[in-house]
Amino acid sequence: MTAQINPTRSTQDYQALDAAHHIHAFLDQKALNEKGALVIAKGQGLHLWDTDGKRYLDGMSGLWCTALGYGREDLNAAATRQLAELPYYNLFFHTTHPRVIELSELLFSLLPAHYSHAIYTNSGSEANEVLIRSVRRYWQILGQPQKKIMIGRWNGYHGSTLGSTALGGMGFMHEMGGMLPDFAHIGEPYYFAEGGDLSEEAFGLKAARELEAKILELGAENVAAFVAEPFQGAGGMIFPPASYWAEIQRICRQYDVLLCADEVIGGFGRTGEWFAHEHFGFQPDTLTIAKGLTSGYIPMGGLVFSKRMAEVLVDRGGVFAHGLTYSGHPVAAAVAIANLKALRDEGIVSRVKNDTGPYLQKLLRETFANHPLIGDVQGAGMVAALQFAEDKASRKRFANENDIAWHCRTVGFDEGLIIRSTLGRMIMAPALVATHAELDELVEKTKRAVDRTGRELKLL
Ligand code: PMP
Repeated sequence: MTAQINPTRSTQDYQALDAAHHIHAFLDQKALNEKGALVIAKGQGLHLWDTDGKRYLDGMSGLWCTALGYGREDLNAAATRQLAELPYYNLFFHTTHPRVIELSELLFSLLPAHYSHAIYTNSGSEANEVLIRSVRRYWQILGQPQKKIMIGRWNGYHGSTLGSTALGGMGFMHEMGGMLPDFAHIGEPYYFAEGGDLSEEAFGLKAARELEAKILELGAENVAAFVAEPFQGAGGMIFPPASYWAEIQRICRQYDVLLCADEVIGGFGRTGEWFAHEHFGFQPDTLTIAKGLTSGYIPMGGLVFSKRMAEVLVDRGGVFAHGLTYSGHPVAAAVAIANLKALRDEGIVSRVKNDTGPYLQKLLRETFANHPLIGDVQGAGMVAALQFAEDKASRKRFANENDIAWHCRTVGFDEGLIIRSTLGRMIMAPALVATHAELDELVEKTKRAVDRTGRELKLL
């Protein structure tokens, strides 16, 4: 497969201009400037091309977002039509527009019946900012304004804005000016690392009961909500034991604490269910959505409310002094509609559940279950993680696992594969439209990257 790429400058010129003017996310800019950024110029299906024409298989759907892959003409047409018809109008005060209304109709037809309302945003971070204010407003309306502490998890990720950083549990982000009062954290349900001698089931209950202990420590009358990703994404695609979520739900109900699921990665078919909380079998009060809502073709996120919350906010709350200029943007809404229709009408989500998801998961386990460097394979549908481990039986992790995984990621790029590393884990989330052949390529290239890492770092 070749691509028509039309760079107007050389790669070196792009890199020099990038180094001169842009600060990259989560990377030492000075070190990057010495090497130059990778300039991606073109995408089609699951493949990307850089400005030198090198092809990559995108095993990460961009940042977990391009569910439909690159180059979809129907999404392009939906955006173009909307740009011509009504490129902008807003949802302030008493106005609205057809596309956002149609999007809501479609979105709520895909969601379980106990959700009824949404506020749209431009990103996942913003949606979690809306969450923080909505949850506080909810308890204020109910006459409990002191009930405002939100509990997240260490190593959870909810965004890079101030509130979402505080809600998340990335310690290094907190240290860089990202902490606020009224946020608390509990441990993550990371069995491979923390399970000790416990069975997975017992560890899942233990990890969940940290929430109960934290609520009791803070006083249930002060705790507004528990917020977590159904499976951790940026934290390493960590899937909790099966016992975890039911116990979390019991605790939230017992202490009247809202249960909020961040579905920014898990939403829109990633696990094979439309939403990841359905995969794990629990019922959150809110859902944070973004990424797969538009397949990343245009920025859009949102916060979905259960009927229980919406009744309080809408029927009893009066004015909610909150609004974003681009909330429910018509072009974003048009793209989201085209995207959701494709996911539904082309049977893509059901194929992930019944065909391609099981195929990928089986292939990964067959390939890596007995690999000397891999201690665990986790995942469901089109999301998976490989855990580097020195000794699988005792679940002993490499002391320098971060460096090992980063090396593997770098080798992957060299092999024409985009996968990502988090601590000692290689994580992948290909587009939901991936074919068996593309999944074969993904796993084969990942194996090559893991083997090369073992040889080059003398681990084998
Ligand atoms: N929540 C989760 C679970 C995420 O993974 C992310 C982004 N990776 C966000 C929120 C933030 O979304 P955004 O980058 O669109 O602000």
